[in-house]
Amino acid sequence: MVQLRIEEAEALKQKLNRRYQELIAEVRDELERSGERYYIELAGRVRDSGEKAVGDLLADLGTAIVDRHVRELREIEAALQRVVDGTYGECAECGADIGFERLQAFPTARRCVICQEQREKTYAQEPSPTL
Ligand SMILES: [Zn+2]
Repeated sequence: MVQLRIEEAEALKQKLNRRYQELIAEVRDELERSGERYYIELAGRVRDSGEKAVGDLLADLGTAIVDRHVRELREIEAALQRVVDGTYGECAECGADIGFERLQAFPTARRCVICQEQREKTYAQEPSPTL
């Protein structure tokens, strides 16, 4: 996080947290709407988990209802962990600065633009390369 100013890092952290809460609320709603007793119970567990590491809890579930959210939840959890570790904003490939503008557009970005483009070229056949 060397190159990010404190306000910038804080703004990104808030952005990540806000998106995280949104996703959790959506997942909870979908589980409750499903009408299945098991899922409704799980929705309660999501609420009681203190909204921490919900990605892991839901990944074990392996249900289509939440699968599409789980990946994003885990990416946000990983990004928040990098904030804690002090490696947030650092490219996972080359160690360069990802840069505030790119992080604003993709707060969960793990790579700088150059490494990301390189990766997309290499994995051009994959439908959705990870950020
Ligand atoms: Zn890089």
